[in-house]
Amino acid sequence: MVPSARQNTSQTNTLPTVTAKIQATSREQLGTPSVLTEDPAPKQTTSATSAPQPKATTTKTPDRIVRVLIIENSKSAYVKHSGRINVYTKDLSKKYKISNGGTIAVKTHKTGQAQAGTLVAVQPIIIEPVGDTKLEINKTTYTGKLVVFPGKTTFNIVEYTPLEQYLYGVLPYEMHHTWALEALKAQAVAARTYTLKSIEKKVDEPFDLYADVRSQMYKGSANVYDSVRKAVDQTRGQVLAYKGELFYTYYHGNCGGGTDHVEIWNQQAPHIKPLAGTSCKFDSHSKSYTFKQDIAKSAVEKFARSQRLKGSLKSVRVAKKTGTGRASYITVKTSGGSKTVLCSTFRASTGIRSCKLTKITTGATKVHFEGHGYGHGIGMCQDGAHGMAKQNYTYKQILKHYYPGSTLSQIR
Ligand SMILES: [Zn+2]
Repeated sequence: MVPSARQNTSQTNTLPTVTAKIQATSREQLGTPSVLTEDPAPKQTTSATSAPQPKATTTKTPDRIVRVLIIENSKSAYVKHSGRINVYTKDLSKKYKISNGGTIAVKTHKTGQAQAGTLVAVQPIIIEPVGDTKLEINKTTYTGKLVVFPGKTTFNIVEYTPLEQYLYGVLPYEMHHTWALEALKAQAVAARTYTLKSIEKKVDEPFDLYADVRSQMYKGSANVYDSVRKAVDQTRGQVLAYKGELFYTYYHGNCGGGTDHVEIWNQQAPHIKPLAGTSCKFDSHSKSYTFKQDIAKSAVEKFARSQRLKGSLKSVRVAKKTGTGRASYITVKTSGGSKTVLCSTFRASTGIRSCKLTKITTGATKVHFEGHGYGHGIGMCQDGAHGMAKQNYTYKQILKHYYPGSTLSQIR
């Protein structure tokens, strides 16, 4: 049921609290910079201890450090720095600083070693911006410290950034920044919850999140849209919980008229009410609501081979549908046989926009798909959230609609 649209004037500080199960790990050691304080830095209040801290700590919820993988399996990268930086190894055995803007090269050295500027190490190397310095890699600008993790023949770079700052760099790539504020606020809560839930599981790993669709899109948080800043700040620390626990607040572009149970996409996910699907009559304004798409026959045959199905493609058809019309299973038939697979698996491989399929035609060189929606169809429908916001629903109502049974809570 959709609640009636009304502007819900603020009921501040009445939210229940929920605990994020995040254990203290090495993230905290790297996330709390206090090195190189002996440097003769200008005596400013921030001085050398200043990796980006959450602004104005007054009465706000304490922020957490999020570790985002921004460069993966690379042999070479260039880090532009707008001002002063500190470069040091994790154990501080090697360190130096650069006082002015410039560029330092990061590259692989001998097996298992990485080099950042003049510093070579087998252990993680930290590139720490000081004061207002921003770091730029591949035209994306970051505010957090960057940690280079040497691998055998390549390296990864992980940005350490406070959660709320990180969200500034997620929102505009997951939802258009010109959309209604209440939709952006719903997105902020969903992304924050997803982030904290993801962190729970990553205690012993070197990073928490990818910067792409494997987790959430993220392109640095140095340049923040006003609308995005509002959406994040006005929901600061707010998350969704179910029975007192955070859950994976999945979201997607357009559900095509109704979301589905998480089991059709991720059978390992907990079967809980907020992820069991709901109606959606707010997304048909979007051009993503319907689609027509051609996929090369060779791409489908490649998928078939990955399922140990040889021969040339004969047909693709829907084998089983959910109540909303989304294909849960499809059958791929080749001259060598046929196989029925999860449609989500097929979608991940071939790139069809959605499994809510209304027509499939197998041609000589292409397979033609028609249907509704964009994305996996679980959790919040972003176009629907936008549609609701345009009809004056509040972010709380939007979240309640797409995650039924969930409770908006304050993280502690
Ligand atoms: Zn929808």
